[in-house]
Amino acid sequence: MNFEVKLNDLSRALDKDRLFILEVTEKLIDNGLLVLGPMVRKFEKELSEFLNIDGVITVASGTDALEIALKACMPSGKRTVLTAANAGGYCSVAAVRSNFEVVYADIDPNTQSINLESLEDSISDEVGVVVVTHLYGLATDITQIVDYCHTRGIAVVEDCAQALGAKLPNGKFAGTQADVGTTSFYPTKNLGALGDGGAIFSADKEILDKVKKLRQYGWGNKYEIDISAGTNSRLDEFQAGILSFRLKSLESNNQVRRNIISRYRNASLNTSICVFPANDSSHTGHLAVATSNNRTVVRKQLSELGVQTDIHYPVPDHLQQGLFNKTGTGLPITEKMSSQIFTLPCFPELTEAEISHVEACLRNIQ
Ligand SMILES: *Cc1c(COP(=O)(O)O)cnc(C)c1O
Repeated sequence: MNFEVKLNDLSRALDKDRLFILEVTEKLIDNGLLVLGPMVRKFEKELSEFLNIDGVITVASGTDALEIALKACMPSGKRTVLTAANAGGYCSVAAVRSNFEVVYADIDPNTQSINLESLEDSISDEVGVVVVTHLYGLATDITQIVDYCHTRGIAVVEDCAQALGAKLPNGKFAGTQADVGTTSFYPTKNLGALGDGGAIFSADKEILDKVKKLRQYGWGNKYEIDISAGTNSRLDEFQAGILSFRLKSLESNNQVRRNIISRYRNASLNTSICVFPANDSSHTGHLAVATSNNRTVVRKQLSELGVQTDIHYPVPDHLQQGLFNKTGTGLPITEKMSSQIFTLPCFPELTEAEISHVEACLRNIQ
């Protein structure tokens, strides 16, 4: 088989958007403004209208968004973040960079997101912020988690770097159910820039005010530092111009991704693997993730048939030696899932021939 289906191929969207990328570049030269200018303000407004939330503030990456969000909503006197350990380590890195402690709760095997009972078991008086990640694109309703946390003075952050545009049955978008939402515009995300970028959203004026200061040295007015722990985390005009353009096709691209995942799921129904569903608009179809009890063999078979796969993510945060210099255990569902999951190719520019090829390969998995 000389057919190769890549996990992702960013050059296709770049090529499709070529004319517009050149147009943004010309606008940039004409405007002569490069960072936090009119294109950034325009994009922030467009994203806030799209998400139906008052305040959107862009930053330089999704990890920065998490770090700034954690700092902005950590109650005074507390310094512990509670999150799930299956979401790629970004939240843990942001917490460690903020000088906060991290503790973990286990996940719900149906949503891959934090489980309320496990959260209740792991909570302590030290915890000031809970971070929920809407993993692989599935937005989960976190009303119960938010209620539980708010009665205890704990803030809730929603990381929707993989779920931007996912809409819950109650009409709310992922990232707008709690105190703060964060996202990333890393090129492989559903709304991807041509470099790094991120955003923070909130309806809370006090939090927004802090976020705005933290993204630029802690400044209140220019050159006047109001609060400490500020950083330099700004979005470029160029990236904002690209993101404004790409935001218009976010919903239709999410639909294309969902269709691909549904086709994979149907193709593998009578096999030993299970593709997680992405049925409706509560899912952005960010990643096509499947489970197998025999992952190494299945991935090898697929690879020999020209289908690239990857694992999101192979090492749960609590087992990351380099981050904590210690090994933990005790998150049975997280650990089991991380040994079974693997990711199939899914991006809007996949061709019909490529999707059909993956379907055919999946049907033949033993
Ligand atoms: C990609 C990602 C991030 C980090 O975003 P960067 O822009 O790469 O820093 C954080 N959280 C989740 C869930 C992500 O998928």
